Amino acid sequence: MAHVLAVANQKGGVAKTTSVSSLGAALSELGYRVLLVDLDPQACLTFSLGLDPDALELSVHDVLLGRLSAGIVITRTSDGMDLLPATIELAGCEAVLLSRTGREHALRLALAEVIDAYDFVLVDCPPSLGVLTINGLTAADEVIVPLQCETLSHRGVGQLLDTVHDVQRLTNPGLGVRGVLPTLFDGRTAHCRAVLADVSARYDIAVLTPPIARSVRFAEAPGTGRSILSTARRSKGAEAYRAHARAIAEAVGTGPLKAGPIKAGP
Ligand code: ADP
Ligand code: MG
Repeated sequence: MAHVLAVANQKGGVAKTTSVSSLGAALSELGYRVLLVDLDPQACLTFSLGLDPDALELSVHDVLLGRLSAGIVITRTSDGMDLLPATIELAGCEAVLLSRTGREHALRLALAEVIDAYDFVLVDCPPSLGVLTINGLTAADEVIVPLQCETLSHRGVGQLLDTVHDVQRLTNPGLGVRGVLPTLFDGRTAHCRAVLADVSARYDIAVLTPPIARSVRFAEAPGTGRSILSTARRSKGAEAYRAHARAIAEAVGTGPLKAGPIKAGP
């Protein structure tokens, strides 16, 4: 059964979507079967992996509302990962879900029928702590929190962790916190390192290494429909995400260092 990772932070622009596509591509390179789930109505993940959200007939919205099974909507991307894509319709889904019993479990239940076909599922959460992010956290084994190091970043982490604790108490007792992933990192400034040390001490949360440095390569990738692992194969950013993918695989116990890839790469 797949290990499900939610990538969440209610702040926009902290590299949630970039981290999902890059980690997904890196896990896929290692030979794992990877499903990415776009839970953001802005559909940036879907777009950045080469699909036009405005032209999609079927999307995660139909799946969350129980109209279609996930298997029918999932599509293959050029980077080798599968994708459960989003469209702007997902914005309306939020309101419909709110009126439903068991609304927090819609994604978990929808994924149940496909989860055995994957080794990893990565969920790209929207920039809010609403019902969609709660669905992502409820379906997940672990959450990763991308964090841009700036003054007051820690406040967002505190609010997110409060939500994580609510989810652990009410809908998903097994949810773990993998840690904070420093993104858009500028290692030259002492400020970045101070913010990370503060967040780690304040919330007793792991800071994952290596940090993902700020690089123009990331801004270029989404327009090409491929992740940075394809567009800038040997860049520092791509290598950093590969290091995180290996660490995740190893921690989960399906690591290439232990068991070898589950499936041959493309
Ligand atoms: P989120 O999903 O949290 O809103 P995105 O992944 O969409 O964030 O990233 C926001 C913007 O920052 C995008 O334009 C993306 O290309 C860019 N970006 C992400 N990571 C980096 C990085 N390491 N260096 C430079 N730009 C980045
Ligand atoms: Mg995003």
